[in-house]
Amino acid sequence: MNIILLGPPGAGKGTQSKYLEDRFHLKQLSSGDMLRHAVTTGSEVGLVAKTYMESGKLVPDDVVLGVVFETIDALPENLPGFILDGFPRTIQQASELDDLLEGKNKTIDAVIVVDVNDDQLIKRIAGRFTCANCGESYNDFFRLPKTESVCDRCGSTAFKRRSDDNPETVRARLEVYHKQTKPLVDYYRGKGKLHVIDGELPIEDVTRRINEIVEGAR
Ligand code: AMP
Repeated sequence: MNIILLGPPGAGKGTQSKYLEDRFHLKQLSSGDMLRHAVTTGSEVGLVAKTYMESGKLVPDDVVLGVVFETIDALPENLPGFILDGFPRTIQQASELDDLLEGKNKTIDAVIVVDVNDDQLIKRIAGRFTCANCGESYNDFFRLPKTESVCDRCGSTAFKRRSDDNPETVRARLEVYHKQTKPLVDYYRGKGKLHVIDGELPIEDVTRRINEIVEGAR
């Protein structure tokens, strides 16, 4: 069971990935997290990726493909499946992913687009933060931890905010999404695997809908 979560920054892909990890024992593969890790460790990939990420542009395909495919190659054989979060983001990435999976006798079972309008996204991104330990997502305006400053999912008290969640970079990231990533909706519609969800519904309703899609694709 392999899923792609497609949608603009702030649509809730991270939140829903955590749900899918817990519910179906799938592994979240976030290209953004992989690249942020590379930047933090100061690796060669990280040095290249940093400037693109800071300005909200896409990191070049060959760099991202290298990092993501290395991670897919290293997945244990007995894993029930994975959720691609933030990847692919260009037609080239999607097409190379198809080739990689074909060579491994694997497929993508569902592509789920979480749709949210730009004004709502800007508001959401301004308030978001995550657990520094497990990555659970929170928001100052929409979803605070049930116990103040304690992660609902893992109990950690350390939280973090992303440096590219500032208004200027967010605008650039949204523009990039509309220009370079949205064409993937037609790409996957053509393959008959596309499901579009209204990401402006309450989180629980989005989760319920995703649950139905994944159950139906099993
Ligand atoms: P995200 O955490 O998915 O919002 O990604 C943060 C940043 O990492 C993006 O603004 C891009 O600069 C870079 N990035 C993440 N995933 C990709 C990808 N699949 N292709 C190119 N750049 C990416």
